[in-house]
Amino acid sequence: MEAALTTGQRDTLAAIVDTFVPSVDRDDDPDGFFATKGTDVGAHLAAEQYLLTRLPAEQLVGMQQLLDAIAATGFADQPQSAREATITALAGASPEIHGAIAALTQLSMLFAYGLPDAQGRNPFWTGMGYPGPVQAPPSTPKTLTTVTPADGQVFEADVVIVGSGCGGGLIAGRLAQAGQKVIVVELGSYRNESDFVQLELAAYQTLFLRGGFFPSADGNLAIATASTVGGGSTVNWSNSLVTPKRVRDSWAAAGLTDVAGPAFDDHLAAVMERIGCNDTVSTQNEVHSRITDAATKLGYSYRVTPLNVDPDRYDPALAGYSGMGDQTGAKQSTMLTYLQDACDAGASIMTNTRADRILVERGSAAGVEGTYTDPVTGQTARVVIKAPTVVAAAGSLETPALLLRSGIGGPAVGKGLHTHPATLVAGIYDTPQEQWYGPGMAGAMDEFAESNEGYGYLIEGVQHLPALFATIVPWLSGEQNKELCQKYRYRSDFLVLLKDRGTGSVTIDDNGEAVHWYPFDDELDRQNFRHALVTCIRMHEAAGAQEIFTAGQAIAPWQRGEDLEAYIEKVNQFPIGPGGTPVFCAHQMSSARLGVDPQTSVANTVGELHDAPGVWIGDASGMPTCSGANPMLTVMALAHRTATNMLTRVGDRAESSV
Ligand SMILES: Cc1cc2nc3c(=O)[nH]c(=O)nc-3n(C[C@H](O)[C@H](O)[C@H](O)COP(=O)(O)OP(=O)(O)OC[C@H]3O[C@@H](n4cnc5c(N)ncnc54)[C@H](O)[C@@H]3O)c2cc1C
Repeated sequence: MEAALTTGQRDTLAAIVDTFVPSVDRDDDPDGFFATKGTDVGAHLAAEQYLLTRLPAEQLVGMQQLLDAIAATGFADQPQSAREATITALAGASPEIHGAIAALTQLSMLFAYGLPDAQGRNPFWTGMGYPGPVQAPPSTPKTLTTVTPADGQVFEADVVIVGSGCGGGLIAGRLAQAGQKVIVVELGSYRNESDFVQLELAAYQTLFLRGGFFPSADGNLAIATASTVGGGSTVNWSNSLVTPKRVRDSWAAAGLTDVAGPAFDDHLAAVMERIGCNDTVSTQNEVHSRITDAATKLGYSYRVTPLNVDPDRYDPALAGYSGMGDQTGAKQSTMLTYLQDACDAGASIMTNTRADRILVERGSAAGVEGTYTDPVTGQTARVVIKAPTVVAAAGSLETPALLLRSGIGGPAVGKGLHTHPATLVAGIYDTPQEQWYGPGMAGAMDEFAESNEGYGYLIEGVQHLPALFATIVPWLSGEQNKELCQKYRYRSDFLVLLKDRGTGSVTIDDNGEAVHWYPFDDELDRQNFRHALVTCIRMHEAAGAQEIFTAGQAIAPWQRGEDLEAYIEKVNQFPIGPGGTPVFCAHQMSSARLGVDPQTSVANTVGELHDAPGVWIGDASGMPTCSGANPMLTVMALAHRTATNMLTRVGDRAESSV
């Protein structure tokens, strides 16, 4: 039977949404920002849909029981002040209830400030000074070759590549250009400039795995990863940092000896050339100017970073939306570069197709078995692609699951997951910051990058995301929260990006679906995370912020004139993770590593599985450690190296058959 809420539960949910995003009486409210409440936008309906479709069954039952308990207090008929008191009291009752209330707060905010109306605009945005989408998508033709399988169809190829992202897309391009018959299997759909509507929630639903940020199984992380043609390169923020020397040296020590030397320089250079990295497009918008102001005042080092963005197509007024898919075609994703090369050389991409398992015959790669799902009708088709070479490049969250379903890879599969834990610290300034203007990320404050033997952190700008950013505004009361949300135009967010020493893991459940764990229990990482939060606070203060708040902390923001040290002390007492400062991650790495020892690595040092010749690791999961900087270039340089190794193998085979 399909899950449903009772009428009482629905009414209570609607009342909760309107408690978190209430209608507030204001004389001066020209745009109706204060008068409008969450249910006016339909946030309660979207929240209900989310609970019913996304919560695991046992959590849904718990949530329904909580809604019943809240209903029993007569909640829906209480005035705002009494509802706020009920919510606050309940949140203190137990960690579980606290977690459930936090989830309801976030859903209320996400949908209230993110859902568009029939005109594609959210009613709160005018009051927040946010313009919303700037223009309709252009009618850019789709130039990649896609293939839709019939049920039971069998294909043959030289190479089948699972995943079309940074790693898989690159390998497809290089192998196809070398004359290999390549088929790419991609879980996501083919969406290009003509489909990108500059709306955050639409982007989550259509371009991201599991519909956007989703919790790790232990609830410690909010995870974002792409699922669309081009993978992460289609939605990422283009910040192009080369692999740090310390990381390259540690990979060399792990057996990838060439990575420390000029050969890896060449891989990096080739990638940067193909995806057009340059810094003429690295506009230092207001956020970056605040980071620079702060770095200058505090004596911290800061560098402008290159972006893989075509200067001829770059438009700073549109660049800020490119994390929702880039309408301009300026961002040189794999969709526009290596996948185009691949298709021009005869490759094809099987979209909307999940690789279920890698086929192995007589101990070696034999192909891939998958399931195509029609995105409109939901009808499925089973497909087999026979090939002597398979590349696993489904991203670090899914590649281990694919290997586990296939029974290959050995004991290290899924171990050692790195995530670069991240969070936000916001400053409200007295001049407009308009984070949507210019690239979201075009520089890095790297003063502490090399602390603690390389386990430090970067502070960077961030792609503006109005709905997500609303979820992290401290909620002390409906009115206080709304006042802070309204200041969106004056807000600059600094992103903390931690190089993590600790790791998580990927396992599979009874249905073979990936399950992600990240305990975030490494003491050094937790200390660094706190250090980074405090650094951001001091930076905002130095840059002139009038108010400062850290993500999700239910403590009053610091106001200029107040004691900063006292505020920092309160921040330091707040927990990290569930019920405290949320930890995000968009950089998943190292869950199917390259290395020497089959006990601790999945593939050998050239990238081929220890226990299944012909199967190669082609994505970020192959990294022996985390990249320690935004990973795109490192993933791609490693994939470039793997493609070279694969082509050497093809050449050797050809020679031996003569
Ligand atoms: C929001 C966001 C912003 C980012 N910003 C930056 C940045 O500014 N700079 C930077 O350096 N890095 C950035 N990154 C990180 C970077 O994009 C990733 O590190 C990179 O994309 C990882 O490459 P990959 O090949 O491992 O996986 P991905 O690029 O994620 O590609 C994996 C692909 O595999 C597909 N797939 C998964 N399972 C299956 C299956 N079973 N069958 C078939 N296909 C499957 C997925 O749909 C996906 O398209 C960002 C990432 C995100 C999510």
